Amino acid sequence: MIHTSTNTILPLIADVGSYHPNTINMVKNAAARDYWLNVFDNHTHTHHQRILDTLDDATDAQQRADAFSEHFNNILAELRADHTAHGPISIIKLCQLRRQCLLDQNVLDPYKSIKDDENATALKLLPDLLTEIDALPQPDRWLTLIQNCFAGNIFDLGCEATINLYNSGEIDFHKTRQQLQPRPWAVDNFDNFHSKITQPNPYNKAVLFVDNAGADIVLGMIPLTRELLRLNTQIILTANTHPALNDITHTELIDLVNHIATLDPIFADALDSQQLTLIPSGNDLPVIDMTQISPELADAAQNADLLIIEGMGRALETNFDTRFTCDTLKIAMIKEQDVADLLNAQLYNVACRFDPA
Ligand code: MG
Repeated sequence: MIHTSTNTILPLIADVGSYHPNTINMVKNAAARDYWLNVFDNHTHTHHQRILDTLDDATDAQQRADAFSEHFNNILAELRADHTAHGPISIIKLCQLRRQCLLDQNVLDPYKSIKDDENATALKLLPDLLTEIDALPQPDRWLTLIQNCFAGNIFDLGCEATINLYNSGEIDFHKTRQQLQPRPWAVDNFDNFHSKITQPNPYNKAVLFVDNAGADIVLGMIPLTRELLRLNTQIILTANTHPALNDITHTELIDLVNHIATLDPIFADALDSQQLTLIPSGNDLPVIDMTQISPELADAAQNADLLIIEGMGRALETNFDTRFTCDTLKIAMIKEQDVADLLNAQLYNVACRFDPA
C-alpha cells in the first residue's frame, strides 16, 4: 500500500505512549463497525460520480469509476465477513483503504472542481463578514468567530446528510449560522476559552489544523486566524499535504491565503513578517493520526502554546480524547449519528471543547 505519511509525531501530544487516534473504537464494538461500514458503503456512489465528473475527457472514465467501486465494495464485503481482514479496523483504516482504491485508478483529487467553486463562492462573502466581525465588541466577537467555524463546517462531502444538503443546494452559510444549536452546545467550553483568549498576550504560537475548502476555511478558519494574528500570535496553518474528499490541501491553502492577502492588510502583513506560515501536515485523509505528520510540521510546532483542531474527522472522530501539552481547542459540527451518540448530542449540534494545558 502506498501511504504517503511519515512516522513523525506531533510534539504536543501529552502521552505519546498511550496515544490512539480513534475516539470511536470500532474494533471492540460490532454496532459501530456496522454503522461505519455502511457510511463508507453509502458513500461509494458519490465517489463513483466524482470520478466520472473528474475524468470527464478520459475514454476510460466509466471503466475506472466502476473499477474503483468494485474494488472498494469488495474490501467492504471482506471487512463485513472478517473485520480483521485488513488489520485492526478503524475509521482511519477505512479512509486509507478507500484512498488506495482511488490511487489505483490514478484518481488523485476527485473533489478539485467542487473545492475551487466553493472557495470562489465563499470569497465573495468574506469582505462583508470581516466588516461584520470588526464591528463586534467582545465577547460577541469570539463567539461569532467560533459560530462561523461551525456554520462553515457544514460543507462536508464526507457525510451522507451534508452531501444531500449540498446536492440540493440547501447549504447557505448565513442561514446555517442563524439556525445553529443555541448555547449550551453539545460540548461547550467556550467561556473558558474566551476568558483565556481575552487576557493580554494570551498565546505566543498557535498551530491550527484546518478542514474543508469553501465556507469552512474562508468564512470560518480564516477570520479566526485573523483575530489571532491581531493578538500578535505566531500562527502555523496546516492543511493536508494530499487531497482527501473536499478538504483543502496545503497547495490550495497557499493560493487562497495569498489571494486573501491582496484583500486584507492583516494577512498581507502577517505573510510579509512571517507571523503567519503555512506548513503541510503530511496527512492524506479526512481524519488525522497525530503520529503520522510531516517532519516540517513537527519541527515548527515545537513550543506552541495553543492548538486548534477543526472539523469532525480530526477533532471528534480521531482526536476528541487526545490530550496535548498545550491549551487545545477542538471545534466541529456533528454530522454523523454515531458521533452524535458518542457526545449525547443530535445531528447538526456543535462541539467546542477547550482543554487547558
Ligand atoms: Mg473534511
